Amino acid sequence: MNTKINNNNSSLVLKRILAALLVLYIPLVLGCSKGKIDPAIFCFQPGNPSESVQLQYTLKKVVGTTSDFSSIPSGYTVEGNYVISSIPINSREQLIQELTPDGKEKSLSDAAKSVLAYYDCKDSSAMKDRLSFAYKANSGKLKRNNNIIPIEIYETSGVKSNVSRDTLISDFWPCGGTGVRLNDLHHERDRGKCSDLLAHEISHVIHQYPGGGYYGPDGRHFKNEALNMKTAFIEGWAVFNELVENPGKALEVWKNIDNIKIEDPVQAGKYTSVKRSSLSGMRQLEIEGVVALVLLGICKNFPDGYHKMIQPAFAAVNPSYPLLPELLREILKNQPDSKDGIIKIINEVTLGKFSSEDFANLIAVPDGSGTSKSQNIAASYQGSSEINSKMNSQTNAVPKTNVLKDSKNMFMGHPDNEDLN
Ligand SMILES: [Zn+2]
Repeated sequence: MNTKINNNNSSLVLKRILAALLVLYIPLVLGCSKGKIDPAIFCFQPGNPSESVQLQYTLKKVVGTTSDFSSIPSGYTVEGNYVISSIPINSREQLIQELTPDGKEKSLSDAAKSVLAYYDCKDSSAMKDRLSFAYKANSGKLKRNNNIIPIEIYETSGVKSNVSRDTLISDFWPCGGTGVRLNDLHHERDRGKCSDLLAHEISHVIHQYPGGGYYGPDGRHFKNEALNMKTAFIEGWAVFNELVENPGKALEVWKNIDNIKIEDPVQAGKYTSVKRSSLSGMRQLEIEGVVALVLLGICKNFPDGYHKMIQPAFAAVNPSYPLLPELLREILKNQPDSKDGIIKIINEVTLGKFSSEDFANLIAVPDGSGTSKSQNIAASYQGSSEINSKMNSQTNAVPKTNVLKDSKNMFMGHPDNEDLN
């Protein structure tokens, strides 16, 4: 297989990504209704779905707060302040029965429709394929849950009006760890985002990393926040999987990372904003949105880049705590000819700030201390004078088309964290 990028086209990597998005944007933002959308048309062609890893859905009906009850009814549990009934879901029909008074799909509220959409997304080819390589990555078993990924969806319509919608969204914020937690309000009015949110969280479940990332003093993170290489890869990997599921969102990410947030190392939640173009290429790889677009660029610019490059490399390094350098080293081990193309992709995504020398540093083999040269270099950028660097007048050019106009209506935030941009 020839994995070399055509030199004539290589300087246009980003334009090719954007051009593909223009074509695919309209059908792909319509949603994840069963049978309608197949994310595989972008770069995620069906591979070898495994029957071994299963999504196990539970509807968690929140029936009120503890103050609403003099005693907790039998069969209910208390989580935090809330009283909850847990119902294992075995079929679409059963879920509709649980969500409606009459068992008819047309009676679903918008919030309930988003719950059903999360359920329907489990059947997409992209989701099955993603699960299959979670299986392969762990030599036969998901490390954490014996090949079962629990999906818990909190349905909040039973909560009385004394708890605000914002409080409910915050208290049941989506997340992925040993399983996935979702709620019925997050995409109540925008059900098309269900599949990419689920993909994001499942990507955290299948990614083996000890201890999580370091998210700064406020513990939050954003697609356009410069944090560190570990966190950028943990979240960038998940955002990349979102983009595989919903390619139309790549434009949104590209716009979102024009200005970069840098949190004050002492004062939680105090951010400085800098133009991304003022940051070095290496520093930009500590931004999750940048990592996601680099992976998407590899996926898009090499023949079946997902299955032939990213998937096998990720599966190979996943058990040993991979970051971006480990993933790239593994790709190069398998396909040395891809090196120049990958450098060009990173350089394009980092606005021309990434050199061959940077790449050599990035993928340098770890020294005896267990920290690679690249990580040392990356770490040295933390809190650097870049925070105060002069704004670069170079802008992050994007096409002036209706696609961008429409994209303003898209959810701009990180799926498992809110976004201020
Ligand atoms: Zn995440």
